[in-house]
Amino acid sequence: MKFCSHCGDDVEKKIPEDDNRQRYVCLGCEHIHYQNPNIVAGTIPTWGDKVLLCKRAIEPRLGYWTLPAGFMENQETT
Ligand SMILES: [Zn+2]
Repeated sequence: MKFCSHCGDDVEKKIPEDDNRQRYVCLGCEHIHYQNPNIVAGTIPTWGDKVLLCKRAIEPRLGYWTLPAGFMENQETT
């Protein structure tokens, strides 16, 4: 990938803040171009009559309760 599909500016491959993988990031609009299968995998872990929830540490909905889940990465299994 050489150019941003949103604004047409150049992109560079780098690890965005709060991430742990290299992504193509636009030098103009700072859009992060994720290249993954776009599948969200989640769980509903239970213990007796209780359900484990996570408190979101990132936007959107920072601080809200959610199920443990996330977007899958390339070569990652469910
Ligand atoms: Zn852009």
